[in-house]
Amino acid sequence: MIKISLIGSTGSIGRQTISLVLSRPDKFKIVAMAAGSSFRLFEEQMGAVKPQYAALADSFAAKKIADVPAGTKFFGGEDAALAAASFESADIVLVAAGGFAGLKYSLEAIGAGKRLALANKETLVCGGDIVMPLIARRGGDIRPVDSEHSAIWQCLGFNLKAPFSRLIITASGGPFKNFSAEQLKGVTPAMALAHPTWSMGAKITIDSATMLNKGFEIIEAHHLFGADYNKISAVIHPQSIVHSMVEFADGAVLAQLSRPTMKLPIQLALEYPERIELEESRLSFGDALSLEFSPVSEGMFPCFDTALACARAGGTYPCALNAAGEEAVRAFLAEKIKFTDIARVIGGVTEHTVSEEVQSYAQLCETDARARAYAQKLILGCGR
Ligand code: MG
Repeated sequence: MIKISLIGSTGSIGRQTISLVLSRPDKFKIVAMAAGSSFRLFEEQMGAVKPQYAALADSFAAKKIADVPAGTKFFGGEDAALAAASFESADIVLVAAGGFAGLKYSLEAIGAGKRLALANKETLVCGGDIVMPLIARRGGDIRPVDSEHSAIWQCLGFNLKAPFSRLIITASGGPFKNFSAEQLKGVTPAMALAHPTWSMGAKITIDSATMLNKGFEIIEAHHLFGADYNKISAVIHPQSIVHSMVEFADGAVLAQLSRPTMKLPIQLALEYPERIELEESRLSFGDALSLEFSPVSEGMFPCFDTALACARAGGTYPCALNAAGEEAVRAFLAEKIKFTDIARVIGGVTEHTVSEEVQSYAQLCETDARARAYAQKLILGCGR
């Protein structure tokens, strides 16, 4: 029985994890769970999961919880939610909380010596320079839940330190890869939220449409697999069947293929080294199957180009980039700025950032707050 602490239970990965766990009560048990403010869904989840410990980070939302199952201890507030990430009886902590806020949960889990299943991108994008050394010092165990990094992990024989010559990260290219500059200006939130191949949360779906998400994934891969940026490339693969590839010194390329479902990387991170049945990821080779690959050229996706520049410059740049991205996407979803303004806000914030070597979580919090404040200024300017 694998005992899980699930951080971010009400998001897309959190909901899929709960459905997986409830379908395999012989294998998995969620002992602790935490979420932000979605109290109605959280109350429902507590009833179905019956964890020993549950917490909502938003203490105002926590007050609206009426029904707590017998045997569950429920609390409200940030500290209570954070405590779920180091819950004593958990074997593994799945951090699926979204955004910069997820980083502190990963640090808490690693600090408590927990095995970490990582779905939160910002943990490595913003905190990779402190997170990976901390894991190394503590002899910790980190398992990627992002589909691309899970694919690479599988191709490397589940060894994060295995040698390779190149990591090739696939990208669907999102719904607008063939749009003209003029067409992009007219993109609405509804258009951007309709992803051609994957079903994901709103923030990551918009980040997929701008390809900022792929920039983040390159930064994650750099930290996770110790890869120089010149050894990582992205390639457009519209079918989302090949989830990423690894090229070795002799030119051999290994790829991981399956139908696009996050359940595969989720269960593999929890259950590794065992592989368990999953019908919905199975490919049918009884039908014709075409796989296409094309390069990502500079200028196609301005957010991706900015992300790569931040990645290579390092320091606190990726943290500022992420903060700008979170603010810009929120403003776009609220119809305060245009789709094309997302790149303007991100570019403006990173240009304004003075990068420092990453030394502490507190320093990252400061960088994050500064970048958000400046992004807000630029967002106001876009509306005029
Ligand atoms: Mg991904």
